[in-house]
Amino acid sequence: MSQAVSTDVAVIGAGIIGLCVAEKLAHEGLSVMIVEAERVAAGASAGNAASFAFSEVMPMASAGTIKSAIKWLFDPTGPFSVVPQDLPETAGWLLRFALAARKKTFDQSLQTLAALMQLEQETLPKVLARTGLQQMVRQSGALYLYGSMAALRGDLGNWKLRADEGTVYEILEGQALHTLQEGLSPKIPAGVYAPNYQVVTDPKDYCVALHEAVSSNRVVTRFEKVERLEAVEGGVVLHAAHGPVARAKHVVVAAGPWSGKFAAQLGDKVSLIGERGYNTTLPKSAFPALNQPLFFTAEGFVMSPLSDGVRVGGASEVAGLERAAKFERSRMMLAKARELVPGLQDVEGVEWMGMRPTTPDTLPVVGRAARCANVIYAFGHGHLGLTLASSTAELVSDLVFERQLKIDLEALSPRRF
Ligand SMILES: Cc1cc2nc3c(=O)[nH]c(=O)nc-3n(C[C@H](O)[C@H](O)[C@H](O)COP(=O)(O)OP(=O)(O)OC[C@H]3O[C@@H](n4cnc5c(N)ncnc54)[C@H](O)[C@@H]3O)c2cc1C
Repeated sequence: MSQAVSTDVAVIGAGIIGLCVAEKLAHEGLSVMIVEAERVAAGASAGNAASFAFSEVMPMASAGTIKSAIKWLFDPTGPFSVVPQDLPETAGWLLRFALAARKKTFDQSLQTLAALMQLEQETLPKVLARTGLQQMVRQSGALYLYGSMAALRGDLGNWKLRADEGTVYEILEGQALHTLQEGLSPKIPAGVYAPNYQVVTDPKDYCVALHEAVSSNRVVTRFEKVERLEAVEGGVVLHAAHGPVARAKHVVVAAGPWSGKFAAQLGDKVSLIGERGYNTTLPKSAFPALNQPLFFTAEGFVMSPLSDGVRVGGASEVAGLERAAKFERSRMMLAKARELVPGLQDVEGVEWMGMRPTTPDTLPVVGRAARCANVIYAFGHGHLGLTLASSTAELVSDLVFERQLKIDLEALSPRRF
């Protein structure tokens, strides 16, 4: 049986959220043990679309999404699907998702996301400066592309909502669009440029570099799968299958889509799924002119520039945590990408599937466990985990140090479901 080492804080999960939390708490002077089941960035944090999507204040659960989702469900090549065999695991989440699209919840989530984005834009530069990783992130802007002027007009209401929350954007038509991004099909007449997007060179490299930057005498990593948390006098013991791993004054649960089991152990029934996304990473030579993320709005996927590649993907598949990946989804998106970017060289691609830890109302879960105030949850960031990691770390550190919170955590409560 291994020794249960004592530490101020144990962070479960070395994804982008756990790494940012560890960095922040170590910076505040605490000793931190990261406990990771597999490897640094074993989940969605490694293969995502690399964007700090600061314009994305629109909650995913919306009347518009529900309408599109119903249409896409009947399109086998569409970007949304539900695995019927897994409905016993996911039906409750789907129902809550539909309910979260109601105007009142939508409006509340929009306000909370906007506040998180604001906090993120204040905290991210500080994290990059402390870790020396500024060169891995650049302001790229992003282009949202529309297949017709009618489609653009139909989405302008959403852009207005974003603008109300501080997003700057510019409508580009015809030549102006095709000059900003060469290589697009002439069938694409219009786009919206959002300048405040940032991209990371490669999300996996970023996590590995962040891990290297935080590892020190004060931050150690132990590769163990945590099975159970036990509240004890003055703290919490983390148990692996073979016995205790660590004893910590505080535990932060940042285990992505696998976090639900810890919440359940501590009396919180959160609604969380592993919402699956797929992509293919091509060599840089596939589309060297790609300079910013391109969102193909009707097709539901994105093309992202990496330092060493071009990543094509997205989609949303509602399935159980254990279901095997169906890479036809990656291939369908790649086929559509070829039509929209006719010069795309789609050879030597590497396919990937990742699970977004997604709640029905698009907001993360940040707050204390019902049965143990020393356990803090930091999971459920859905499509925005990279984007919201530094702000989440800021909120977690305010909870650990019992400081005044920069955002009201009511909307992020584990007891809201
Ligand atoms: C296709 C796709 C594109 C995306 N694009 C973007 C984007 O452009 N921008 C953006 O902001 N977000 C994006 N996302 C979402 C983003 O990737 C996720 O929100 C984010 O990675 C979640 O990070 P996390 O640290 O919470 O979870 P994860 O990355 O899943 O990390 C959780 C870690 O916990 C570990 N773990 C699990 N259980 C245990 C246990 N019992 N004991 C110990 N360790 C455990 C896992 O091994 C894993 O390493 C995208 C996601 C997908 C799928």
